[in-house]
Amino acid sequence: MQTLIFATGNRHKADEVQDFLGEGFALRCLKDVGITEDIPENADTLEGNALCKARYVYDKTGSACFADDTGLEVDVLGGAPGIHTARYAGEEKSSEANIDLLLRNMEGKENRAARFRTVIAYIDGSGSVHYFEGVVEGSITNERSKGAEGFGYDPIFMPNGYDKTFAQIPLAEKNSISHRGRAMSKFIEFLNGEK
Ligand code: IMP
Repeated sequence: MQTLIFATGNRHKADEVQDFLGEGFALRCLKDVGITEDIPENADTLEGNALCKARYVYDKTGSACFADDTGLEVDVLGGAPGIHTARYAGEEKSSEANIDLLLRNMEGKENRAARFRTVIAYIDGSGSVHYFEGVVEGSITNERSKGAEGFGYDPIFMPNGYDKTFAQIPLAEKNSISHRGRAMSKFIEFLNGEK
């Protein structure tokens, strides 16, 4: 079994990713490797931020590791919140406040098109960097949906071809179409080719 360090402190994300990796990979999170501090992310692209996180962990552990960074890009807002997705409404990174702000900024807007984009940066055991990207196109709903699946902006993001939001789609199904799912599929294909 291959051990991989995932540079995240977000339990929801770690669960989603472990679900993906299956039994062939043992996932270790930041706290499993003794990293409890916030990792600086000050690049101005998703690639740059994913690499910041992976590089920090690689420098501390010397082990193969990966990090992801996700942005929600809303067309009518010129691609915002983009790299500011987690902190859209402030440093507290509150999903509730982020959703409230986005719904307010979208009031009266007819074009609701948006996408989630994830970039994974992987640093292999020899220090080489590899990137994997996944995108899901969809729209921002007019209000929060019911449904307790998922996290973040899930209650207001409806993927194209569905009449439900991500908050109403079971995890396995979300993983099969989501931004992170698609980036992970490419990543896993690459890892399996590396074995
Ligand atoms: P991160 O870069 O993966 O931490 O994602 C940045 C922010 O995007 C998170 O804080 C969430 O608010 C949001 N986000 C990322 N992935 C998802 C998702 O699958 N559903 C809803 N929101 C997400």
